[in-house]
Amino acid sequence: MHCWHRFSFGIAVAILCAFATLVSAQAPAAAPFVTHQLKPNVYWIEGGGGNSGVIVGDKGVIVIDAKTTPAGGKELLDDIAKITPKPVTTVILTHSDGDHVNGLASFPTGITIIAQEGNKKEQETALAAGGRGAPPAGHLPTQVVTKNKENLKIDRVKLELLHWVPAHTSGDLVVYLPTEKIVFTGDIIATQFPDPLIHLEKNGSSEGWITTTKGIIALNSDVNVPGHGMVQTKSDIQTRLSNTETKRAKVKDLVAKGKSLDEIRSAVGDPPPAAPTGRGPVFASFTEAVYRELTKKS
Ligand SMILES: [Zn+2]
Repeated sequence: MHCWHRFSFGIAVAILCAFATLVSAQAPAAAPFVTHQLKPNVYWIEGGGGNSGVIVGDKGVIVIDAKTTPAGGKELLDDIAKITPKPVTTVILTHSDGDHVNGLASFPTGITIIAQEGNKKEQETALAAGGRGAPPAGHLPTQVVTKNKENLKIDRVKLELLHWVPAHTSGDLVVYLPTEKIVFTGDIIATQFPDPLIHLEKNGSSEGWITTTKGIIALNSDVNVPGHGMVQTKSDIQTRLSNTETKRAKVKDLVAKGKSLDEIRSAVGDPPPAAPTGRGPVFASFTEAVYRELTKKS
């Protein structure tokens, strides 16, 4: 009996350990999201993928970007409920990447979802292709932006939706609050990488990134909320623009001299390209994006 007791205790521990390993492998303990207040009615929420904006209107809430997963979308809604009892009525998407869109699965149906027309096309393409990372079918954009600038008043909140040219993706949308002097840049500015991320597979453009970033800097703003990372001042963005222009000019010069992509990579000091991990796509580096743009045979 005594022996059996020890034996069963051992098995129980083993099972517990296996279970704990399984749980931690499936769901690494994620840090809770962090809410940052910018104005009495404007917040941004960090964590779970791209940054989200929260603007409390007269009767409802406008959300900018919806996190990566259904659980992330739910946590975002729970955090908004801690700010205000008003319901979410509108979501504005800065671009089509899953870490800004797919949390919409947890949002109520029937809300207004605003996106640039290129974004909607990219989501439809991803949905048709299916698989992991496809956007939630029940939450495709309901209102499409086709102009370079759209002035809106939603729930007494003044907003400008801006799209210059394709940059991070073909469907980028920058959200500007002229009264509060706040800009939500989406992944045009994402501070986890030193260089801009250009999605060539979504018809992004490094030249377009420069045009768009100049447009962002020209806005009368005090605060810029990036797609990833902490809020940026205009001078932070100016520095990023200058560095990017310098790097792009260098790549352009080397392309003109007939250098190969590998030669250019080492000349500009890039690390060797990352090998595929099997977990999601490997995106082209900024150098590669510029190289491919400049050597593309039209
Ligand atoms: Zn992102």
